[in-house]
Amino acid sequence: MSGHFFHRLSHLIWPPLSLLGDDPVDRPGLIHAEAWARLTFVTEPVCAICGFVFATAPEEWAGDTRCLSCVATPPAFDHARAVFFYDEPSRGLPLALKHSGRLDGLATFAALMANALTISATGAQGGPGPDLPDVLIPVPLHPFRLWRRGYNQAGLLAAALGRRLDRPVRHDALIRRRATIRQAGLTPAGRRDNVTGAFRVRQQAFAVKGKSVLLVDDVFTTGATLEACAGVLKRAGARRVCAVTLARVMRPRPKLARPKLAPPKPARPKPAQPYLTEPPRPDLDASG
Ligand SMILES: [Zn+2]
Repeated sequence: MSGHFFHRLSHLIWPPLSLLGDDPVDRPGLIHAEAWARLTFVTEPVCAICGFVFATAPEEWAGDTRCLSCVATPPAFDHARAVFFYDEPSRGLPLALKHSGRLDGLATFAALMANALTISATGAQGGPGPDLPDVLIPVPLHPFRLWRRGYNQAGLLAAALGRRLDRPVRHDALIRRRATIRQAGLTPAGRRDNVTGAFRVRQQAFAVKGKSVLLVDDVFTTGATLEACAGVLKRAGARRVCAVTLARVMRPRPKLARPKLAPPKPARPKPAQPYLTEPPRPDLDASG
């Protein structure tokens, strides 16, 4: 009698549920087809640095094009990518991980984040990704918040992605030395001020000098947190700092005029093309 049999039996009694709702799915970690089709994945063309999605057609776009914000103020990180837009259809994914501790999506998220790292890595989607990092570092929570929540959602994502990429993860490399107030509701300048000086590299625990680092977080809202983390890592001697998040707030939301393709089978986590009609835009905010 194999474990496989009992596994199948348990699924008959407790069918696995979609990561976005109560719809049954074939196996844990999947998203049911309708919810999958409503997600807007980050696809080219994107800013070469921060990964902001441009509305221009791919033929008008060069792989090294930067957004106005990155031209005006180049960020401390070299490269940031996200899997999907943070919007009404997607927000349940990071929120379930952050507040409900729902872990069955981690392997799917790791596969999607590994794929997102290849977006425009060489100016052509699907080409070889950026050099594999020497180490993955999650954006840390303040120890008090970690104690209260019991886990760091960015740490869970980093651990899953580290397994996927077969790279080490250092949960202790960065520390959040003061509890920042919740970022939700702050202006971009307020968010920057809120995280300025909030992070420190724990040099005695981790020699960052000369390393290529991949920062991992759940949501890229204004980039202020990743910017603050990348800044201290660069000052400590990191050679390269890239970042990957599950979701990204796109403001202003680009008017995507690309044709909608049929959603892929949810069993294979692979970005779909964005769809034509925009969902209603409530006031979204993710961080905290
Ligand atoms: Zn940019």
